[in-house]
Amino acid sequence: MTLTLHVDGERWRAHLRGTAELYEGIIPVIKGNGYGFGNRTLARRADWLEVDTVAVGTYAELTDVLPRFGGDIHVLTPWRPFWSDTVRPERMYDPRVVHTVSRIEDLATLRDEAPEGTRIVIEGETAMARHGIDRHALTAAADALGRLRLIGFSIHLPLAENNLAEADRWAAAFEASKLAPAVPGTPLFTVSHLSDREVRALAERRPGLAVRPRVGTALWLGDRGAFRVTGLVIDSHVVERGERIGYRQRPLPAGGTVLIVSGGTSHGIGLEAPTAATTFKQRATSVAKGGLGAAGLALSPFVVGGKQRWFVEPPHMQASMILLPSGVAVPEVGEEVELEVRMTTTTFDAVDLP
Ligand SMILES: *Cc1c(COP(=O)(O)O)cnc(C)c1O
Repeated sequence: MTLTLHVDGERWRAHLRGTAELYEGIIPVIKGNGYGFGNRTLARRADWLEVDTVAVGTYAELTDVLPRFGGDIHVLTPWRPFWSDTVRPERMYDPRVVHTVSRIEDLATLRDEAPEGTRIVIEGETAMARHGIDRHALTAAADALGRLRLIGFSIHLPLAENNLAEADRWAAAFEASKLAPAVPGTPLFTVSHLSDREVRALAERRPGLAVRPRVGTALWLGDRGAFRVTGLVIDSHVVERGERIGYRQRPLPAGGTVLIVSGGTSHGIGLEAPTAATTFKQRATSVAKGGLGAAGLALSPFVVGGKQRWFVEPPHMQASMILLPSGVAVPEVGEEVELEVRMTTTTFDAVDLP
């Protein structure tokens, strides 16, 4: 049952250090499945990187990060009155937590509920249109701060080319508004999805702001060669063309060996997040990839003998059945086979991180 993430620890740590140097003022993002490594591991790594601030996705994630990281923790999901239904107030209003506020009406409620001096950033609505207040509401936000302590402004940008222009427009609007003067000290301006060059350009243009990039993927997953994923071969059977096997008892389109390999739906294997690419083209590609695709099999992420192999049927909960055509060298039971996974959707049984 072992789907393992093997990390070349030295190489990974060198990449983390390099990235932290490249993005001055980096705020590592720790969320979800911890980009495959787990949020607890990332929290300890951020502490080791000696950054003063990290960001988490949700209030629930504070549970794993607060005890393992000593600095400030930004919560990226904006504060809402209903989060306190599921998060204990001691955790939610830990003095190290910085809240994101993205609606004027939430300022009034938070003001009443949070301890005096609770730190917040206001988020502006970008082209993303996910969260954030409108440009015209900056004055209203400044007037509604009350006893909350504003420390800066935050924007979340799409994965686009012209992000610097939008970031600079928001930085200008923030500086010109009543919000920036309400900040004691240098206001923070935190951004996502700018390149290291764009971050430097923005910081040069806005010397009155502490520009801080929030980085997840490029930090934790930026050096793909620093890790690999394996599943264990837990069984193998010789099969003939036409033989009916598996839960679905469908006849096999080819003979060879069926491998039972650890890694199934509970790990996220074979479950694809919807992609932005046109599905028609992808389907055409998968059919073009070979005869077994046309025969109704799906390509698995498992690589044996240098090639991605076909699923015999959809993955099971914890294991997958893979077809190796005759002539391919069959790995032994107990051997590891490599697979390509999407790190943000995979749950590993073990992380081997020396
Ligand atoms: C996830 C997230 C990030 C980090 O995104 P990456 O693409 O992993 O670098 C930054 N800001 C916000 C608001 C996010 O939700």
